[in-house]
Amino acid sequence: MNIYNTLTHRTEEFVPNVAGKVSMYTCGPTVYHYAHIGNLRSYIMEDVLEKYLRYDGYDVKRVMNITDVGHLTSDGDTGDDKMLKGAKREHKTVMEIARFYTEAFFDDCKKLNIKTPDVVVPATECIDDFIRVISSLLEKGYAYEAGGNIYFDTSKLKEYYVFHNFSEEDLEVGVREGVEEDKNKKNKADFVLWFTKSKFDSQELKWDSPWGVGYPGWHIECSCISMKNLGEYLDIHCGGVDNIFPHHTNEIAQSEAYTGHKWCNYWFHVHHLNTNCGKMSKSKGEFLTVSLLESKNYDPMVYRFFCLLSHYRKSLVFSYENLDNAKTAYGKLVSRIAALMNTSAGAVDSAEFDRLKRSFKAAMDDDLNTSNAITALYNVLKADVTAATKLALIEDFDKVLSLGLIEAAKKLSASKAEDIPDEILQLAEERSRARKAKDFALADSLRDRISQLGYVIEETRQGTKISKK
Ligand code: AMP
Ligand code: ZN
Repeated sequence: MNIYNTLTHRTEEFVPNVAGKVSMYTCGPTVYHYAHIGNLRSYIMEDVLEKYLRYDGYDVKRVMNITDVGHLTSDGDTGDDKMLKGAKREHKTVMEIARFYTEAFFDDCKKLNIKTPDVVVPATECIDDFIRVISSLLEKGYAYEAGGNIYFDTSKLKEYYVFHNFSEEDLEVGVREGVEEDKNKKNKADFVLWFTKSKFDSQELKWDSPWGVGYPGWHIECSCISMKNLGEYLDIHCGGVDNIFPHHTNEIAQSEAYTGHKWCNYWFHVHHLNTNCGKMSKSKGEFLTVSLLESKNYDPMVYRFFCLLSHYRKSLVFSYENLDNAKTAYGKLVSRIAALMNTSAGAVDSAEFDRLKRSFKAAMDDDLNTSNAITALYNVLKADVTAATKLALIEDFDKVLSLGLIEAAKKLSASKAEDIPDEILQLAEERSRARKAKDFALADSLRDRISQLGYVIEETRQGTKISKK
């Protein structure tokens, strides 16, 4: 498989550290509010990546954190704490907010057929691990104490801006939303590993540490949770493009300073879902959630389909018009599969199965080109092969695409089948038996009887089809 690597700015062949095994880490949600459908675009595409690696035969172990502490809008002690903001908004405790929105996140994932990673770890459960790694960074001279906080010293690294050639000037205050200057830092790019002097008097979650009572910075959690569960050599790390800097840059700085060697080989970043007005937001404009889409009569599968129609490395514009187009296309696709199910299947032609599967794999091997993979699916429907071959391929591709195609088609045919009276279904069954017994006179008379009752029975290339006249 070839995959674009943000670290090298190239599409490269994916080769894991250990043959046949993949360690995969995903930055999880900050659970202070519902996920918007932009966040979920990232998780859908990461889910496709994980499923494709499994489909390709890899034994994947995927780990994700839950950010329930430490995600500030600033790296200094001056930004807003997102969790605290959520708790204030809803007059609840931070842990109540974290529990509620963690559950809401996984409910949304379930609706979107996003598999839960093998290991999911809330940051608040790993405080001892953070303290251990921060202590080691201090011992090794990569961290310093200033104004009550522990900072990572980026000047100690040979190369800090590993993804881009940022200059110090690029980091002027205001580069990121809510960034304010922190006078404690030795270098502009330094970031907090542990806070003890917080401006948040009402900060509920604090832990004892060698440097005083406080709480961890955001970046340290992903380095520690990843290394704890996947070891010091990571194959692939995922997130949205906004995570490249500073979050992933800082994760690399900490992890490599701690281990003394290269940490992660492939960096997979999903580009943003935007609205016509620009960046998607939880506070400005319509707060686009899966539940909102459902309340407007959009099946979550339509949103997944909408995402898969575009490449993950292109930003995608959300509009109801675009979603309506995806809804129509998804509906037609399901109807075509349902029609296939109403025909007699025949046998699976394994040579044709392999041939058509190859074009699906070629699309996915080409940097996860889901849109071409969906074209491969349409080509299966058009192909001159038995219904059984088509259905087997659709089921196979859907292990990766997870569009619930077979299930949706079964539901649709069940609802349509109800429209065809039992008497007609029985006559059709008798006719099919007569044909098998080569009693064509009886078969013809049964077809005439069905026709008199207002139904048409046809033999298609894929089998028998019954429809109302
Ligand atoms: P957060 O809950 O803010 O930590 O974000 C969760 C995930 O969503 C991260 O991987 C972000 O990079 C990603 N993300 C944030 N905004 C968008 C967006 N508009 N489109 C796609 N992914 C996003
Ligand atoms: Zn992370």
